[in-house]
Amino acid sequence: QGVFIGRRKGNIKDKYIIGNKLGSGAFGFVRVGTHKTTGQKRAIKTIQKESITKDMKEHSQFFNEVDILIKADHPNIVKLYEWYEDEKYYHLVTEFVSGGELFDFIIKSRMLSEPIAAHFMKQILSAVAYCHANSIVHRDLKPENLLLEKDSADSLLKIIDFGTSKMFDTGSKMTQKYGTAYYIAPEVLRRDYTEKCDVWSCGVILYILLSGKPPFYGRTDREILERVQRGQYSMEDQEWGRVSIQAKNLIKKMLQMNPSSRISSQDALKDEWITTNTLNSFRES
Ligand code: ADP
Ligand code: MG
Repeated sequence: QGVFIGRRKGNIKDKYIIGNKLGSGAFGFVRVGTHKTTGQKRAIKTIQKESITKDMKEHSQFFNEVDILIKADHPNIVKLYEWYEDEKYYHLVTEFVSGGELFDFIIKSRMLSEPIAAHFMKQILSAVAYCHANSIVHRDLKPENLLLEKDSADSLLKIIDFGTSKMFDTGSKMTQKYGTAYYIAPEVLRRDYTEKCDVWSCGVILYILLSGKPPFYGRTDREILERVQRGQYSMEDQEWGRVSIQAKNLIKKMLQMNPSSRISSQDALKDEWITTNTLNSFRES
């Protein structure tokens, strides 16, 4: 199927039937759209230009996301079809991932068995290792930005929301503060970090997948960030009793305070717990 990936001028409504809202943020909103010529459902992320003239950040974030999605070609990264520009808006058209956010899947399941958690983490790490090998850092990995193709434990997973991602130069440090309290790496708070910040966020996600709770918890962002800065978390609670040593060890390697001793995304993908926990071992047991 011909994927165009380029700018279209004119009214997006000529090409798409706009449907339900899927999400919204400070920048604008995401809606489902039916592509008239193919009948395909797609996701349309719309950013108001008005917010852009006031604050150039949204503008560069939009083109950032376009540039990076054009480059990225991986089964666990959302595909870009095309983008539109009209008088008032920019529109980013990506594939529609219809099984909902991993966030909602966790809430519903409370916590996941190790084979299911590994099935999702393997897909996240596969995309992150691909990004890092191609000099892309995501910087906002969290379960709201991880979508499932279907609402089930064996689903394909896709990373979305490259609005705060960046092409990085190997060996040089980044300083812009991006991310979300529960998932942000301590070195990002110090504004001196590399792509390893994504591995930390994956460690937080894995902790949540296996226990249903965030490792750095607080009632306010300030409280959460204080805990992140100290890097202290516990795996003592009851729900950790049934979790394997191998899973705990991988979390420890991903939640290393010092980024240079933290495991890389490539090595995490090769970790024993990731490679030996398959959904087949789940089905057989
Ligand atoms: P924001 O920058 O506001 O976080 P996102 O790109 O993360 O924007 O999109 C916001 C929400 O919209 C997502 O968390 C998800 O629920 C929904 N969404 C975004 N893209 C898609 C998509 N391709 N398919 C289905 N839902 C999507
Ligand atoms: Mg998002």
